[in-house]
Amino acid sequence: MIPFNKPYMTGDELYYIKDAVTRGKISGNGYYTKKCHNFFKEKFNFRNCLLTSSCTDALEMAAILIDIKEGDEVIMPSYTFVSTANAFILRGAKVIFADSSRNNPNMDAELLEILITPKTKAIVVVHYAGVACDMDAIMKLAKKNSIYVIEDAAQAVDSYYKEKPLGSIGHLSAFSFHETKNIISGEGGMLVINDDQFDNRAEIVWEKGTNRSAFFRGEIDKYSWVDVGSSYLPSDVTAAFLYAQLENINKIQKRRKELWFYYYHQLKELGDKEFIQLPKVPDYATINGHLFYILCKNIDERTSLIAYLLEQNVQSVFHYVPLHTSEYYSSRYERKLLENCESFSERLLRLPLYYELEQEQQSYIIAQIFNFFENK
Ligand SMILES: *Cc1c(COP(=O)(O)O)cnc(C)c1O
Repeated sequence: MIPFNKPYMTGDELYYIKDAVTRGKISGNGYYTKKCHNFFKEKFNFRNCLLTSSCTDALEMAAILIDIKEGDEVIMPSYTFVSTANAFILRGAKVIFADSSRNNPNMDAELLEILITPKTKAIVVVHYAGVACDMDAIMKLAKKNSIYVIEDAAQAVDSYYKEKPLGSIGHLSAFSFHETKNIISGEGGMLVINDDQFDNRAEIVWEKGTNRSAFFRGEIDKYSWVDVGSSYLPSDVTAAFLYAQLENINKIQKRRKELWFYYYHQLKELGDKEFIQLPKVPDYATINGHLFYILCKNIDERTSLIAYLLEQNVQSVFHYVPLHTSEYYSSRYERKLLENCESFSERLLRLPLYYELEQEQQSYIIAQIFNFFENK
């Protein structure tokens, strides 16, 4: 069976974990946490960042930092993972779902303005599959209406919008290092702080609402409870694992992008014959080899293709159930129609893509997809 995903271990993880253990300090904000922070600052020019235990945590921190209160409205796509919404719901926000664009599952920037009300506090963009949203249009709209932009960049490490790294554009951004992502630490994430008004509070919220970080830097002589917060920082063992991955980021990204382009070029014939649609990447965006999807004509065809591939020992999977149709949301709020989002949800199929997928296996998967459509 060719699995849908297989987490890639670079081989250096145990070396760094052993070193972290030997150093004798394995709580958060230690030696490897700082090395990871510096890595991101150097490679992607992020002005400030904090590792977290998950992207979910980073999104929760963002909601606290922009001071989400009961009744605030937050605009986001419906075609996303639950954490994008939960982080803001937990602070009492009302989530306003926006439709996907026609071309890809990302929010359609042109549909956002009509959703803005005096209660709107933020727009959360999700760069689905690591493909950028139209950030110039969204940042301009946010500025005009004095609202914040949070990037859910969970899938977007090493991807770009007009040459700017994703995660460096919104006021705050959240990354994931969950084992299903490109760069992993089992569970893991990071908050990127692009607006310096949040620097001080971010560190406090990260450290359970205390000014412990400033204390350890020797800036104050005792630390105490100064704000709300939680324990959002990962153990230094997790950071040591992550550091091994980061050192191999170029190699990992090169292979994942090769696999993405190979699917794209080989399946183009089926796209040209209109059996399927291939992903459309806007001129302003790049791919980062996070995931490769095709779009079937409808849900029935997708269900048959999944079953057919499984018979051929290939695991392929669909993706999000739109959040506005979920049990939690639809039982509480009025259901609206988000046509493009629902269409992507029914037609999108993800194919195996992971570092260790071999060329022969990928060719086999592609051949099976051709077989399916040619024998129809
Ligand atoms: C993976 C993912 C998350 C959650 O990441 P965790 O690190 O598991 O909390 C959030 N949003 C999106 C878009 C994701 O793909």
